[in-house]
Amino acid sequence: MNSTPALLSLIGNTPLIQLRKASEITGCTILGKAEFLNPGGSVKDRTALGIILDAAEKGSLLPGGTIVEGTAGNTGIGISLIANAMGYRSVIVMPDTQSQEKRDILRLYGAQLHLVPAVPLADPQHYTKVSARLAEKLCTEEERGAIWADQFDNVANRDIHYRTTGSEIWQQTAGTVDGFCCAVGTGGTLAGVSAILKQKNPHICIALSDPQGASLYRHYTQGVLKAEGSSVMEGIGQSRVTKNLEGAVVDTGFELSDSEALNWVFHMLKEEGICLGGSSGINIAGAVAMAKELGPGHTIVTILCDIGTRYQSKLFNPEFLRSKGLPQPDWLAD
Ligand code: PMP
Repeated sequence: MNSTPALLSLIGNTPLIQLRKASEITGCTILGKAEFLNPGGSVKDRTALGIILDAAEKGSLLPGGTIVEGTAGNTGIGISLIANAMGYRSVIVMPDTQSQEKRDILRLYGAQLHLVPAVPLADPQHYTKVSARLAEKLCTEEERGAIWADQFDNVANRDIHYRTTGSEIWQQTAGTVDGFCCAVGTGGTLAGVSAILKQKNPHICIALSDPQGASLYRHYTQGVLKAEGSSVMEGIGQSRVTKNLEGAVVDTGFELSDSEALNWVFHMLKEEGICLGGSSGINIAGAVAMAKELGPGHTIVTILCDIGTRYQSKLFNPEFLRSKGLPQPDWLAD
């Protein structure tokens, strides 16, 4: 009998689907990688798997050991499922600004959850720093040891996207892809996918879809790391060049508003029957912007990062939307 847990075979190999309206209005073929179909409901299952397998192979993660991570939620959800299937424990540190649904899922899946205030990166209470310290402490206290997943700077993250997400996109488009764009949290998806696509065909255009308030858009388009504005979207918006992003070739960038992104999220649910989170809306808006730049007839791929039900209390909640001055569709009644 095969001793590899069945869960692992469910991660990745997601379909690439055509986005009807985005394609119609641009005259391009706009395709979305259906990452919300991963068992943990997001693209970050891949990252969790890549980091865990790498640490187990290198011997830093021992059988029965603990995986500690700071996360906006999705990586933690992936880690907790994989930990259950592979006999590890999971300890997750998350800012208290992330959705209630993500907290509930993490607790259900058995992660030991630590909520911390959302503070700037330089603050010692930042969720990544708290998780690093916790991992160090558990390492000394626990017999079986602990690892810090360190998804932002651990390049096992970028590597799994190179080997799986990017290579799947190349195969699923039979090499016809002209452009790829996505938002950045850790940068693992953008860096891994772009590396293999550029290697296959250096003419493929790579773009960042950035929410307002992140610094990378200005980094890639003007050479300065500078943030302007703010966004309610979870899991994306980065203020530094992470180790995963180092050396990534990014040709251009688009800065998208929350309103524009949310209108795509609402459209996708009500008219294409696909319930997505906010970062997918940023990505679709970015793909449409890229299509307008490249012109009709091109094939553009983006990422449908996670499932929208985990944001029901925010992005699909009239009160929340009103409080942020965001669009509220008629069908979303109070
Ligand atoms: N969308 C969502 C919902 C996420 O949780 C994340 C990761 N935090 C991303 C997009 C960005 O992916 P990456 O970390 O690979 O840049």
